[in-house]
Amino acid sequence: MGEQQSPINIGRTVATPDLLDQLEIGWRPDRFTVQEGPEGLRFAPRGTHTAHLSDQVYRLVNLHFHRPSEHWVRGRPMQAEMHAVHLRVDDRLHACVVAVFLDLGDAPETGGAGEPPTWIDLPALLPEGGFHRYEGSLTTGEFTENVSWVVMREAVTVADEGLRAFVRSRADHARPVQPLNRRFVLTTG
Ligand SMILES: [Zn+2]
Repeated sequence: MGEQQSPINIGRTVATPDLLDQLEIGWRPDRFTVQEGPEGLRFAPRGTHTAHLSDQVYRLVNLHFHRPSEHWVRGRPMQAEMHAVHLRVDDRLHACVVAVFLDLGDAPETGGAGEPPTWIDLPALLPEGGFHRYEGSLTTGEFTENVSWVVMREAVTVADEGLRAFVRSRADHARPVQPLNRRFVLTTG
């Protein structure tokens, strides 16, 4: 295992004001095909969604969900976390994963089966505000260290009842947080 593993606890960060201009996310509401993989359910978009990060273009290949969150903030996990996995258009060996903390509310379980939704309003799952950025790894499979992580700072309250029931009942587990080692976490100013 390498020295740049994910997830991590986000504690001390380096304020980097011009970071905000280096990210542009192009997401739309879309239909998703649900695929059962060895690591859990993956939602593959029908259409094209992009993330531009530091002059590189990445295309969304899947969404998936973890409960509790994989990344921690100042020593604590959040309720849940969405991972939007994008691969670089000119080098599919490199990924940009946009991570969003999800607030599922504290309403009691609806008792629904938690069927995976096939229509997701993706822009509604992107919070306003800044983000953290660091170099790390996939958190499943071979833990390949090929991921530029973007972790949105604010949590999003999931309004879609079906998605909320799904994440409550069927989200993937979380890998334990890994040592930061010699890395820095940058944050928008
Ligand atoms: Zn994940």
